[in-house]
Amino acid sequence: MNFSGRTAAFRAACKRFFVSMAHKIDEGLFPEDITCDLCGKELDEKLRYRLCGECISKAPFVGDHICLNCGVTLTDESDYCIRCQNDRGEYLMNRSPLVYEGEAKELIYALKFGGKKYIVHTLGAMMADTFLKNGMEADIIVFVPMTAAEEKKRGFNQSELLARELGERLQLPVLPALIKVRETATQKLLTAGERAKNIEGAFACVFSQVKQRKLLLVDDVFTTGTTANECTKALLKAKAKEVRVLTAAVTKKKIPVESKDGDVDYI
Ligand SMILES: [Zn+2]
Ligand SMILES: [Zn+2]
Repeated sequence: MNFSGRTAAFRAACKRFFVSMAHKIDEGLFPEDITCDLCGKELDEKLRYRLCGECISKAPFVGDHICLNCGVTLTDESDYCIRCQNDRGEYLMNRSPLVYEGEAKELIYALKFGGKKYIVHTLGAMMADTFLKNGMEADIIVFVPMTAAEEKKRGFNQSELLARELGERLQLPVLPALIKVRETATQKLLTAGERAKNIEGAFACVFSQVKQRKLLLVDDVFTTGTTANECTKALLKAKAKEVRVLTAAVTKKKIPVESKDGDVDYI
């Protein structure tokens, strides 16, 4: 595909490609019976978010008073959370529909580790609503990449699935503009400083079409912001105009610790 032409032609070409991709995914993977993504209860009608009333009432949405940088819920009058007071990335903002806890964590785990790809419908719908609610702007959607080995191991890249779902819903082209140029140690139990060092220079932008474009970078969880920032640096180096980040969930704080059940909590 030649993306170097006019914006409309470029968008139309990308859209056709990803609409066909999305339909292929839909045909093969999504269950016919509509059930709650969390508790499995059958839903009487097709809902925007595939969650029953009880699960939706428990879902940890970020609410209206959020950190201007990372988008996490704030419980006092400040503009920024502790994470972002002195340390903000080169992206303009991150926004997420959910706080990474409880039901949000369950949904993302089921998608990533339970292979329940249909959960991208619910998370994608929530993310699209967050994009619109926050007046976010974008010409192109890009996503946080995995290395080929990482993707082979999981079988898919959840960030790419979310990006494609968003592309459909927001009618925006999705480009695999970023590649991960080297393996990195698993991030989950590293401190913020260790994460930054671990991931420094791990990404590169391979599409010149990002030049002078407003980009929306999609990932599943925003934790310390180091991954988002490294991806943003690679995109800005390729002359992107600006980068906003949209993730399914944002952690409240940034220090990861192992919880009693062997999972990860943030303190
Ligand atoms: Zn439910
Ligand atoms: Zn913040």
